[in-house]
Amino acid sequence: MTNRYDVIIIGGGMVGLSTAYHLARRGARTLLLQADDLGGGSSAACSGRAQVAEGRLNPLNLRLITEGLTRLETLEEELGTAFEWRRTGFLALINSQHLWDEWTERSQILTAAGIPTEMLDQAALRNAEPHLNTAGFMGAAHAREGLLNPFLFCWAYAKAARRHGAALRPRTPVTGMRVEGRRVVAVETGAARYQADRVAIMCGAWTGRVARMAGVDVPIRHTHAEAFVTEPMALPLDNTIELANFYETIHGVEQAVSVGFSRDLRGALVVTEAVTQTAELHRKTAAWGLAGMAADLVKLYPALAGVRVVRAWGIPTPFSSDDEPLVGWLPGRDNLFVAAAFLETITAVPVVSDWMAGMILGEAIPADLSPFSPIRFSRCSGNVLCCRGEVTSPLQHKSLSDGLSND
Ligand SMILES: Cc1cc2nc3c(=O)[nH]c(=O)nc-3n(C[C@H](O)[C@H](O)[C@H](O)COP(=O)(O)OP(=O)(O)OC[C@H]3O[C@@H](n4cnc5c(N)ncnc54)[C@H](O)[C@@H]3O)c2cc1C
Repeated sequence: MTNRYDVIIIGGGMVGLSTAYHLARRGARTLLLQADDLGGGSSAACSGRAQVAEGRLNPLNLRLITEGLTRLETLEEELGTAFEWRRTGFLALINSQHLWDEWTERSQILTAAGIPTEMLDQAALRNAEPHLNTAGFMGAAHAREGLLNPFLFCWAYAKAARRHGAALRPRTPVTGMRVEGRRVVAVETGAARYQADRVAIMCGAWTGRVARMAGVDVPIRHTHAEAFVTEPMALPLDNTIELANFYETIHGVEQAVSVGFSRDLRGALVVTEAVTQTAELHRKTAAWGLAGMAADLVKLYPALAGVRVVRAWGIPTPFSSDDEPLVGWLPGRDNLFVAAAFLETITAVPVVSDWMAGMILGEAIPADLSPFSPIRFSRCSGNVLCCRGEVTSPLQHKSLSDGLSND
């Protein structure tokens, strides 16, 4: 067994696994080191929605959504493994005039960008979901998004990456990185030391913690989200349901519930989210979260009052301080790449992982990802100070300390 690779990816969620696939497919000798099971972080804990309507409306994000959806249509065939992909409806329930106005404008921009989105008044909403309790809602925004099984999605990428020669090591947490000058020269696990020309940190909410092993502060934060799944049931539910005030509800409060639900292929409901602001990275659940989500679910969909909960979980979910993803080379280190904090991750992954693999190998890629570059968080006054004990050239934008995760 060799310990030398072209690229080492740290983190085996959907972002790391899909990038490993594209690197290996290009012929790069690729090693992926993952702390727990493949996909076992936020990726396996998510609802499996290929979201289209809730993210940023800038040209790059809209392109990722439209191209990502197109790529998802044929991805099972490309990867050689089915992951229960299908298109489904999405309803964002609206309970205030300002949200109605905001979503009306949003729906126009999305539609013009090739993501058809329409506004439904209360009568049309009742028609779309006859068993939904529409009291208190003016109506909803409706779009066509996608749904898949997130476990199988990760597994499909893992199998395809292995087929192309990538070495994937689950249950192998990285414990340290050795830096010489501006380069990461070795990645260490408890049992071994690996070397590569390039190293990519793709650790979701854990990205800040892992980047600090290379002496770099990365402005990734997280919230702790809880969710649960019910027993399968026969239910006339055609759409994924969310509340349009999700971000308003969870913003600036220590704990909040904003209920949303979708149905998997067997008829089980995946119900999200109870959100806690916490510096701790953990996987625990709490009674208030499950009770809060269950109460709001039954208010919205009274027919679910007797349904049984099969399993609940909690997991951190990453975000950056300006809510844009963090993708690119880290300032102060010549061979250290980072990718984390995508907002509509499943939709973006099929396309952005292909582009990231190209970037890591120094190829020209078909899009400019510089709006996502970590350089935007560099200190603006005087010199940029991104790596401990090391000063790089002056660049602009925010103070690094604005976005530091304190996990
Ligand atoms: C309840 C919930 C529902 C969601 N629903 C959706 C949805 O429907 N659609 C959507 O697009 N997004 C959704 N998300 C967000 C989505 O889950 C994340 O954006 C996505 O999983 C991030 O993928 P990732 O690969 O970046 O991170 P992760 O999947 O978290 O992978 C990072 C991995 O890095 C590993 N790691 C950490 N430290 C180390 C180390 N030292 N060494 C090696 N490995 C390490 C971790 O074990 C982890 O598995 C949801 C999130 C939650 C919490």
